[in-house]
Amino acid sequence: MFTSSELASIKNILTPDKNIVIITHYNPDGDAIGSSLGLKHFLRQLGIEAEVIVPNDFPKFLKWMPEAKKIIIADYKRKVAGEAIYNADIIFILDFNASHRSGNLVGPWLEKARATKILIDHHQQPDDFDFVYSDVTVPATSQMIYHFIQALEEEDKVNQDIAECLYTGIMTDTGGFRFRSTSATTHRIVANLIEKGADPAMITSNTWDTNTVSRLHLLALILGRIEVVKDGKVAVLYLKRDELKQYGFQKGDTEGFVNYGLSILGTQVSAFFMEDLYEDFIKISFRSKDHVDVNQFSRNHFNGGGHINAAGGKYFKDLEGTIEDFKEKIEDEDF
Ligand code: 5GP
Ligand code: MN
Repeated sequence: MFTSSELASIKNILTPDKNIVIITHYNPDGDAIGSSLGLKHFLRQLGIEAEVIVPNDFPKFLKWMPEAKKIIIADYKRKVAGEAIYNADIIFILDFNASHRSGNLVGPWLEKARATKILIDHHQQPDDFDFVYSDVTVPATSQMIYHFIQALEEEDKVNQDIAECLYTGIMTDTGGFRFRSTSATTHRIVANLIEKGADPAMITSNTWDTNTVSRLHLLALILGRIEVVKDGKVAVLYLKRDELKQYGFQKGDTEGFVNYGLSILGTQVSAFFMEDLYEDFIKISFRSKDHVDVNQFSRNHFNGGGHINAAGGKYFKDLEGTIEDFKEKIEDEDF
């Protein structure tokens, strides 16, 4: 948490006359949108308006969230987003650790912005900003927003909008309260959020029971050819651009696919390789069990990072070459 003197300074500068912007990472997920909107609704409870800006569009299954449709998507509204960041007095940086993670468009704007920058995030190795609340042991940035609200002694201001957003962020980033850093504290906070109006059945159904037919077809395709290597310890999944096109891929369709590799008995790592729809690179998702550190592995070999058990990366060879290189690199690892 911020120190008490940092909290006092933050309280001091958070006033209704300020231009406040909340930014999250490229390809925003449930925690990115949940923490950003949750903070926005909380600031409103303090009488302060803030603008949420995301670098690019986000999946339909997150658009039910209160005011999700008011989020400024920088890809579509460059001028509005650029000016808001340029004119901001305060920028909250949520659910990412370094400016470049907000993409080629927003990243440089963020670096140049003169605003006071406040980071709240749970990824490894955060860059330096004016105020930094970084904790890699917390499973979701949305949980950290709740801790921030508690630290400000404003828990009684948590309303249904805030509760729904933070619940969604925690639910999605913990894979439905399953992943390793899910703690008793997480569950206590989630219980509070339910009391404040978050409806678990509604949120789960809006977020997760929204499969598109294209998603299910893609899932069938990759599960049908899942490969397990390194004595059953590593699962490999992949999708080609042509397949994405053929099945009518929509944003968010492949969310969570990588987890299927980890559901196999005995696997320690799952890797999912996907050709980008437009550019010539391979987007990779890594997941791991227990102490196997895919964050470091991705940093070392695949231009990425993330968390110990969930990381991503990018590789600039073709799909075959990427998977070949991956199989070679894992031979040197002790998982
Ligand atoms: P996902 O596999 O769901 O895209 O990402 C898993 C985690 O790794 C997320 O926390 C995400 O922020 C992080 N991550 C994904 N891609 C990258 C990347 O290219 N670079 C870095 N540093 N982190 C990534
Ligand atoms: Mn997160």
